[in-house]
Amino acid sequence: MHVIYGGTFDPIHHGHLRLALEISDALAVDRVDLVPCHIPPHRGSTGASSEQRLELIRLAIAGEHRLCVDDRELRRAGASYTADTLRQLRHELGQQEPLVMVVGTDAFAAFDRWQEWTDIPALAHIVVVQRPGADIPVGSEAARLLSGRHASGPDVLRSSPCGAILQLDPPLLDISATGIRQRIAHGRSPRYLTPDPVWQRIQSLCLYGACPDGNF
Ligand code: ATP
Repeated sequence: MHVIYGGTFDPIHHGHLRLALEISDALAVDRVDLVPCHIPPHRGSTGASSEQRLELIRLAIAGEHRLCVDDRELRRAGASYTADTLRQLRHELGQQEPLVMVVGTDAFAAFDRWQEWTDIPALAHIVVVQRPGADIPVGSEAARLLSGRHASGPDVLRSSPCGAILQLDPPLLDISATGIRQRIAHGRSPRYLTPDPVWQRIQSLCLYGACPDGNF
């Protein structure tokens, strides 16, 4: 089973890292691939460049063998569409291997605005992680899709290559990249919200308005 977890990771933080390990435990897989997107189609420009976000991810996951980074979206020109990534992966993995993409409820709630979203269930399973305060609106396309494809447990994902949606509600850390960027911009430290090597590198690159000689 191949599991990917996409996001902007601007910057990566302990909320992302804990979720990736919770997913690895819940699905009993020994690897989760983080897939940073290049140009996020639904948002404005990022605070750090693609290369910088990738470097911060590498620093964050160093030494954790269960977490890997897949930089294919950064190597592809133009917008990052999940459907394209899943098509590429499906081609590489073959038709039978279960492919799983992980999204939070905040991202899944707007699933019907994703490019070619109707193609996605034929390419991968989806694991939807409940984020506090971000419920899927009743009556939305996302809610309809979920009820039609609901998986009762992780075993369902192993038994077919794609098409099921599993809802998980693991313990999550209430951390957002927006909160980290805002803290830094206001001269406050984001220490303990993100791994120390990430914060050190943010400072040395003066990202998000950090000054290199600020407080660690
Ligand atoms: P931003 O604040 O810039 O929107 P973010 O912290 O929400 O960023 P993203 O890169 O946008 O992070 O999120 C990537 C994925 O990680 C999404 O599916 C999102 O739901 C999930 N996610 C983000 N923060 C957390 C967290 N603290 N715990 C669990 N999942 C998270």
